[in-house]
Amino acid sequence: MKKNQNYNAICSFCGREVEDFNLKYIRGPKANICSDCVLRSFEAITRSEKMSSNDIFDIKLPAPIEIKNFLDQYVIGQEHAKKVLSVAVYNHYKRIKYNSQNNKNSEFDDIELEKSNILLIGPTGSGKTMLARTLAKKLNVPFAIADATTVTEAGYVGDDVETILLKLIHAADGNIALAEKGIIYIDEIDKIAKKSENVSITRDVSGEGVQQALLKIIEGTIADVPPQGGRKHPHQDLIKINTNNILFICGGAFVGLDKIIESRISSKKIGFGSDVKANKEQAYDELFKELHPEDIIKYGMIPEFVGRLPIVSILKPLTEEDLIRIIKEPKNSIIKQFKWVLHLEDNIQLDFKEEAIEAIAKTAIKQKTGARGIRTIIEKIMLDIMYDIPSQNNIEKIIIDKDVIEKGKPVVLIKKEKEKTA
Ligand code: ADP
Repeated sequence: MKKNQNYNAICSFCGREVEDFNLKYIRGPKANICSDCVLRSFEAITRSEKMSSNDIFDIKLPAPIEIKNFLDQYVIGQEHAKKVLSVAVYNHYKRIKYNSQNNKNSEFDDIELEKSNILLIGPTGSGKTMLARTLAKKLNVPFAIADATTVTEAGYVGDDVETILLKLIHAADGNIALAEKGIIYIDEIDKIAKKSENVSITRDVSGEGVQQALLKIIEGTIADVPPQGGRKHPHQDLIKINTNNILFICGGAFVGLDKIIESRISSKKIGFGSDVKANKEQAYDELFKELHPEDIIKYGMIPEFVGRLPIVSILKPLTEEDLIRIIKEPKNSIIKQFKWVLHLEDNIQLDFKEEAIEAIAKTAIKQKTGARGIRTIIEKIMLDIMYDIPSQNNIEKIIIDKDVIEKGKPVVLIKKEKEKTA
């Protein structure tokens, strides 16, 4: 690196006169570069190296069976949904890989695989978000959760639809190339259905405008994202992101969709209507096997939007048995988490009696919040324990039985042997 000499050298990159800015520079036979530009180039090169080492194509894409086995460790039940999602996600990433390869002069030269986003329909707390999150974990891609109800059309109170993408960019630590291969879960998608009763002065009445706005990013576009979220402003620097390879998983409870399916079946199958009525108690999944895109359109989603979510998977309401399994079995089940925390505390054992687990499942069923209720119930019991225990050093075991759940009785604390005799 040379100090400026007697003539006015100019940096060939930024165009500044190095002397005026008191810059060091490197002089080449045909160009000069100042120290600022050297540093900037270094940063840009390091960033792109980091990006390519994170590239999804560098890792082996797990086969659908492997993805499903992974989901099984965390998500209880929902067998069909897990299978559908494993295949869909595998195909999605295969598509990215395929479309990025040069297939010129092969028999598949002109074929471009289209993106297939996913729609999950199932009651609250049945595992929709969890499935999406666990898939992203298995594939090691960035993941973001967005809520469709926070997004509004321009002109109403709320965020621009691109804010959803900002969450994914954050999840990818600002690495746009990585974010472009991530997964976004959009919750409460049913709440933006067109409904005449969906009247509010703070958001658009029909929901159609939001669906149109979401449609654009879901089908694939180069979006301009406001770096601070919220609304876009003029003169603001915007982040450009291509949504073509982002997998969108939309989820919603679609309360009342069953009635729409039922009425279509009974009106179309003239003469079979009475059979359907006779089978009013037929299982939820039997009914949803008959689900057709036109039912979702009738519910209030615009046809173009439904068309962009070609893979539809139904999650069943969780039964009491499922909830019991959810409390005990998943790799990171809530009980296992608390057991671990107490073990770390002072080797304390946590004993949730089987009858207590059943009582928790029964209470959660009554609350109609699916597996969500489980966490709330257990957190409530554990709050007092986690408050008191760290100040005591004489506890060996904590027993939680049915009475703690059903009658609000205190938990049983077993003291350490030497404390008992003391
Ligand atoms: P949804 O998105 O369907 O409303 P979530 O996936 O957010 O439900 O579920 C809430 C919580 O309940 C999850 O964090 C998870 O702990 C638990 N949960 C729900 N469904 C399942 C399931 N099928 N298997 C295991 N845990 C579940």
